Amino acid sequence: MQVAATTEQLLAIHGRIRACVACRLHRTRTQAVPGYGPVEARIMAVGEAPGEKEDQQGRPFVGAAGKLLTELVESIGLTRRDIYITNTVKCRPPGNRDPELDEVAACSHFLDEQIALLRPDVILILGRLALNRLLPQSAGISRLHGQRLEHDDRVYVPLYHPAAALYNGSLRETLFADMLRVRTYLDEAEAGRAAQSAPPEADADPLTADQLSLFAQ
Ligand code: URA
Repeated sequence: MQVAATTEQLLAIHGRIRACVACRLHRTRTQAVPGYGPVEARIMAVGEAPGEKEDQQGRPFVGAAGKLLTELVESIGLTRRDIYITNTVKCRPPGNRDPELDEVAACSHFLDEQIALLRPDVILILGRLALNRLLPQSAGISRLHGQRLEHDDRVYVPLYHPAAALYNGSLRETLFADMLRVRTYLDEAEAGRAAQSAPPEADADPLTADQLSLFAQ
């Protein structure tokens, strides 16, 4: 039986991330950025790594890319309170360089634990690095963006990274169009859950003529 995830469990993961010294990034960080959002979130977003502002504030996506992420979330009728946001790597790489493979590997189990705990309906994969981490065998982001991909019982939707769309109008348009598809995927998941928990209808399975004849005798 699935036991409901609790805020305490999520905070315990966050505590371990804040104390983590498993790779070199802990030496240059101001603080780790575990993730932000409610444990009940049905949608999760996974970015690349914290930038300067995130490193200072301890929260993901608080800079310019974060502002666009908020707009995207709000464009489908949700707010930042409805989404759990985290990154592939929880500490800022110096100078915002790409994380090294061993840094991604050292951080990997934290993301796995976050996903396993929340079990969101949809996991947004923001950008190429997050796609490499979560679906390493897949095609590239330009081919897969906006698609619903099922893997190991989870639903992923790769999207262009909001930072890439900041100065590129056509990517921005694509991102908003892809978000409309995400809305559909969320609605489908919601409908599936409602159908599963609905009580069976009284007349859902009417007796056949054969069965009725049994009672007529
Ligand atoms: N870009 C990311 O990928 N993550 C953040 O937290 C901020 C910017």
